[in-house]
Amino acid sequence: MASRESGAVLAIDIGGTKFAAGLVGADGEIIVARRVATPPGGDAGTLWTALTGLVDTVVREGNDRPVIGVGVGCGGPMTWPDGEVSPLNMPGWRGFPLRERLAGRFPGVPVRVHNDAVCVAVAEHWRGAGRGSADMLGMVVSTGVGGGLVLGGRLIDGGTGNAGHIGHVVVDPDGPACECGGRGCLEAVARGPALATWALSHGWLSGRAQPSGPAAAAPGGEGAQRPEAPGEDLLRSGLPGEEVLRSRVPGEDVLRSRVPGEDVLRSGVPGEDVLRSGVPGEDVLRSGVPGEDVLRSGVPGEDVLRSGVPGEDVEGAGVVSSRPEGDRGSEVLYVEAERASGRRLAEDAAAGDPVARAAFARAGRALGIAIASATSLCDLGLVTVGGGLSQAGPLLFDPLEHALREHARLAFAARVRVVPAALGQDAGLIGASALILAADHYWTAPDPR
Ligand SMILES: [Zn+2]
Repeated sequence: MASRESGAVLAIDIGGTKFAAGLVGADGEIIVARRVATPPGGDAGTLWTALTGLVDTVVREGNDRPVIGVGVGCGGPMTWPDGEVSPLNMPGWRGFPLRERLAGRFPGVPVRVHNDAVCVAVAEHWRGAGRGSADMLGMVVSTGVGGGLVLGGRLIDGGTGNAGHIGHVVVDPDGPACECGGRGCLEAVARGPALATWALSHGWLSGRAQPSGPAAAAPGGEGAQRPEAPGEDLLRSGLPGEEVLRSRVPGEDVLRSRVPGEDVLRSGVPGEDVLRSGVPGEDVLRSGVPGEDVLRSGVPGEDVLRSGVPGEDVEGAGVVSSRPEGDRGSEVLYVEAERASGRRLAEDAAAGDPVARAAFARAGRALGIAIASATSLCDLGLVTVGGGLSQAGPLLFDPLEHALREHARLAFAARVRVVPAALGQDAGLIGASALILAADHYWTAPDPR
């Protein structure tokens, strides 16, 4: 078997937006790395083919340096350590035996799969902002909110490998529904798409910095709706923003928001609800899939795939066909990073738009509350925060600090420091490699047979 010196670890980072693979040397330095867009809507075989093509390219570009192990970070949920993965944002893989399939391609070396956010936390602890910290939580705030927990210098896995799920710590029991089935989880408040949704529902118009706040954005005040038209029954749910105008025309029910310009045209076809902004070129096709809302520009070839996360909407331009030919939703979506909404939210916040700023403040506050709770529970010294949203800087970190100091009052908890992550988009690969290269700290399970 090749020595650690001559060989390299194959590191893989699998997400709903992109696949990354790289060869990582013994010191954690990336020798070669490649990224490809995740095939949208790909079935199990399509996803696997894309991954193996990427892996083959990387191994070839590494001059066929011997692979001494394979470390993988993948979106959850998954069985651990068996590595059967069912990433929420990749419906093509449900119970996909990722570890076993990779082990078949790389026989005789360890193949280890862990949660992608855990890998980022491991990377920050091993080679990033958390170096030297004994007790640390590494967080990723992106299309989801995830984390990994290091106590006593070792990764804590918990009973099923799921320790560190800070995204599902409850910060507001009366808050928004979470995709996990719960309510008021940190992720439901602070994930990128939740910021964009909240901002849109409070009068933010993407890319048009507002001169005033939500109140002025709703000149008629609450209830300033158009009246029912003939053929439209009004169904009142009793919940704000949940009145429905039932048209007698199928596919034309309207969910009335109390915010002007935010009525939703319910088509009844999944993935085809439309958020009516009232501004030409700014209707939003709601796909129901996180990170796949579409800003309809009305100009062919200029629709935008919105992730809602600053800087993570889309990597490069591409053409995405989301539905079978002939389906009404089969419009080709031309993806254009410059117009993506998450980045615009950050830009508008930086430009002083009060709704955009409030969206970041709300997320920062939720993060501070969750971090205070985690700190009290685990006696943390350090928390690293990475992911697209952390790029917003003080817009996010200032309200985070404020809420944290408000809630972390005991002396041991008050010592906690929160810092931006240091490793950027390579963190996932570096952390995945550490599952092999620094296994004494970061891999506690027996290797599956
Ligand atoms: Zn949740």
